[in-house]
Amino acid sequence: MYFYRQLTSISAITFDLDDTLYNNKPVIDKTEQNLLSFIRYYDNRFNNLQLNDLKNYQKLIINKYPEIYHNVTQWRWLAMKTLLDHYGYNQTKSSDGANAIMNNFYYWRSQIIVPKLTHQILSILYKKIPLAVITNGNANPYACGLGNYFQFILKAGTDGRAKPYTDMFYLAAKKFNIVLDNVLHVGDNLITDIQGALYSGMQACWINTNNNLLDINKNNILPHIEITNLASLIKLI
Ligand SMILES: [Mg+2]
Repeated sequence: MYFYRQLTSISAITFDLDDTLYNNKPVIDKTEQNLLSFIRYYDNRFNNLQLNDLKNYQKLIINKYPEIYHNVTQWRWLAMKTLLDHYGYNQTKSSDGANAIMNNFYYWRSQIIVPKLTHQILSILYKKIPLAVITNGNANPYACGLGNYFQFILKAGTDGRAKPYTDMFYLAAKKFNIVLDNVLHVGDNLITDIQGALYSGMQACWINTNNNLLDINKNNILPHIEITNLASLIKLI
């Protein structure tokens, strides 16, 4: 554990989800493969569709609606609807099809393997202080057995603009009824998590499971603390 800034008292913790509480890559890879199979089966004109084609539809949407990145669910849904529109589906059928594709997406997106250590640490922490989630993604903590540790879950899109915008950090402190200074945000991303937390006035803990170099000159972002393992949090509380 490295200390870069003076910590003040910690009365609540907010967590990022993806790559903070579990490794997100395996579940995303599996979700994308299964999603592609589902779409290919949905209409035999899609038999030769590739993942890149799906990504191109997402690019099309973000170019048309740059602000849609705040809501990744809406972004994916609209990309899938646009694909079906381009293949001549009428409005009702393309909406229904996009819903079906997204239901498949959510099923696989929820098949997250949460490490035992994450459960061990959260089950100790949540008895001591209130915990919550602030995520830019669309994973469902209840579907992977994490939901009950948290007092609330804030998702970009429905609860404010995506991190590093301060919306969800402010909302979390308000919901805890705790001043921002006394909330610690834990996350893996130096921009969305650490810069976002610092801008909003929270304390920031960078979880660096891959032992990346903290290049202060390049990023100009200095967390309060850096940890490589969630277990370090136990010592702080
Ligand atoms: Mg993350």
